[in-house]
Amino acid sequence: MAWDFQTDPEIQAELDWIEQFVREEVEPLDHVLGSPWNIHDPLFKQLVKPLQAQVKARKLWACHLGPELGGAGYGQVRLALINEILGRSLFGPIVFGCQAPDSGNGEILAHYGTPAQKQRYLQPLLDGDIVSCFAMTEPQGGADPAVFTTEAVRDGDDWLLSGEKWFASNARYAAFYIVMAVTDKSVSVYEGMSMFIVAADAPGVSIIRNVGIADDPAATHAYLSFDKVRVPAGDMLGAPGQAFVVAQVRLGGGRVHHAMRVIGQAQKALDALCERSLSRSTQGSRLADKQMIQEKIADSWIELEQFRLLVMRTAWRIDQYQDYKRVRKDIAAVKSVMPKVLHDIAARALHVHGSLGVSEEMPFTGYIVRSFQMGLADGPTEVHKVTVAKQLLRDYQPCDELFPDYHRPTAAARAREKYAEVLASLDERHP
Ligand SMILES: Cc1cc2nc3c(=O)[nH]c(=O)nc-3n(C[C@H](O)[C@H](O)[C@H](O)COP(=O)(O)OP(=O)(O)OC[C@H]3O[C@@H](n4cnc5c(N)ncnc54)[C@H](O)[C@@H]3O)c2cc1C
Repeated sequence: MAWDFQTDPEIQAELDWIEQFVREEVEPLDHVLGSPWNIHDPLFKQLVKPLQAQVKARKLWACHLGPELGGAGYGQVRLALINEILGRSLFGPIVFGCQAPDSGNGEILAHYGTPAQKQRYLQPLLDGDIVSCFAMTEPQGGADPAVFTTEAVRDGDDWLLSGEKWFASNARYAAFYIVMAVTDKSVSVYEGMSMFIVAADAPGVSIIRNVGIADDPAATHAYLSFDKVRVPAGDMLGAPGQAFVVAQVRLGGGRVHHAMRVIGQAQKALDALCERSLSRSTQGSRLADKQMIQEKIADSWIELEQFRLLVMRTAWRIDQYQDYKRVRKDIAAVKSVMPKVLHDIAARALHVHGSLGVSEEMPFTGYIVRSFQMGLADGPTEVHKVTVAKQLLRDYQPCDELFPDYHRPTAAARAREKYAEVLASLDERHP
């Protein structure tokens, strides 16, 4: 019987190293550098590159990848344990070579890329020499692909790509974009869109503006324009009309990886909540001694543990089945609950810190805004809840009777029929 919550000692030793390394070497970067994707910043080269070299030497680089692509091939459960530590720092993922959206873009290039595409784009991406961007959302809507209008039309051996994309993360630092475009208007978008690799410096590509989140000065989400950008036929990724098939390869794993990192962020908020409760006194006792504060602490821990178990089991199922379709409901559930867990724990931590908590001197408003990001990036929560419900409903049948099967009088009548003989003999003995 296998139902085990323990970590193997040799893996724990590795996790202990990662934990210390992230706390001592990586977390401080959050306070001195800008965007983790700005690999062109001279400070990045000085401060981040040496840390990446240490991670590579320890064979912990790009752990989300299989050995054939230079990763450790650890599988999702081990990755979850690593990612929840990396989630403590904005720079954690980039130092370990597993940052979104590059991790997902690498996965689809590995799955669908031609040898030439792999050599030109995948290898430097895996080596950490470039970063990339995934451009799917459009200004008129992201949750409903049916409204996408960016299109590519055939022109000799090339495609001419025109349209606009919105909230394309890290486009300003990226060497290439993976862009979804309509190539066949006669069918539904699910069959009529294709995926292209577009070099960031291709003529006709421009950034209309870079958009920041809340009061974050690093505006890293691009409003992009493509004006008859000439894309060679060899730069289509996958077959014509396959954009959604290709996209699913990156989105399934990507959503779970976000959730793994959110565990680390929520844990940081919980740590702050507990420490502050023990440190601050008011009206004659510590905050920690007041029951309404104890409730906040208990609820936060319970919610985080529930979430962590759901993430770990989902990771385990991905490893078991090696088929994201079979784990769709689990991934959608993880994606749906993730924003609420981070939001609620961060909000309690903020509140218990009083005025300090709401100030820019504390990280809590940032966590709360991030919780909303987690509820939007890779699709809004509502859409994922619909997936959970639809998948669940597949296991049920409607009841044709007027009263349902579990209606108590109906169930009692069935039980009386099942035990009729015994009940009759009892009636005879005890008339
Ligand atoms: C931090 C961040 C990074 C991102 N990075 C990228 C990126 O790199 N590349 C990229 O292509 N996109 C990216 N996005 C965009 C993201 O994919 C979209 O925000 C998302 O798909 C929602 O699209 P939208 O913003 O246009 O909202 P809309 O589609 O306009 O939806 C708005 C709201 O409507 C509601 N809603 C939508 N659909 C339903 C429904 N079926 N039922 C009920 N209510 C519904 C929800 O409340 C939703 O939040 C990013 C977003 C964020 C926040």
